[in-house]
Amino acid sequence: MAAMIEATGLTKRFGPTTVLDGVDLTVEKGEVVAVIGPSGSGKTTLLRLLNCLEAPDGGTIRVGPVTVDGAKPLARQKQAVRSLRQHVGFVFQTFNLFPHRTALENVIEGPVIVKGVAREQAIQAGRAVLAQVGLAEKADAYPARLSGGQQQRVAIARALAMEPDVLLFDEPTSALDPELVGEVLSVIRGLAAEHRTMVIVTHEMAFARDVADRVIFMEGGRIVEQGPAKAFFAAPTEERSRRFLARLH
Ligand code: ADP
Repeated sequence: MAAMIEATGLTKRFGPTTVLDGVDLTVEKGEVVAVIGPSGSGKTTLLRLLNCLEAPDGGTIRVGPVTVDGAKPLARQKQAVRSLRQHVGFVFQTFNLFPHRTALENVIEGPVIVKGVAREQAIQAGRAVLAQVGLAEKADAYPARLSGGQQQRVAIARALAMEPDVLLFDEPTSALDPELVGEVLSVIRGLAAEHRTMVIVTHEMAFARDVADRVIFMEGGRIVEQGPAKAFFAAPTEERSRRFLARLH
């Protein structure tokens, strides 16, 4: 069966700096991939390219049936970009909820506006995803009344409400106070147990080891090493991966 995500030769430059240098990434349906590596290694950029939040300078991105060609401007592939984004849910480091809308309104916005789902139906489905992230009681709360962990769980519910084929997480716990990290990781663990296809950029190494099927270690805009999570953490083969992990202990 074809992979869910297939990116080849992804290249991204910001000014004179090459931030991604020909990255190939394949993610199978149902696979959970953790992307780790030092700050500035290109992890977030890679994730943003997969959702066309940034335009690549080269390479191709296929998600499900949709392909975007990095050699052409995104503006000339609007239909493909829109279609690709419908297959992908993105969870940002800083939640990005609409502050003047309740949790439920945040969750139903995409289905109603983008997918044209009837409001009543979107509300019913929205309540179900809020319950899935443990926030059934907070449907009518505004983001400012929620803790960071709760806001991030609403953001996850909002992504789930679009019924994406793939979920991308960009350091989903790094903006949280330490005591709130666990509740968000626990929701993501639940999604992994449902065999959702996910790519997670994270600094939470224990989480990556336990939850990911595969770990990708990046440095300097390249994938330096990748492999099954448990094997990677037990015995990384590359010197640079070893140094990175050693620095964390
Ligand atoms: P990581 O997620 O691994 O910390 P990033 O993908 O955020 O790395 O960044 C990789 C490099 O690209 C960094 O050197 C960063 O400063 C640079 N960079 C990221 N976004 C931009 C941007 N919008 N403009 C200029 N440089 C950027």
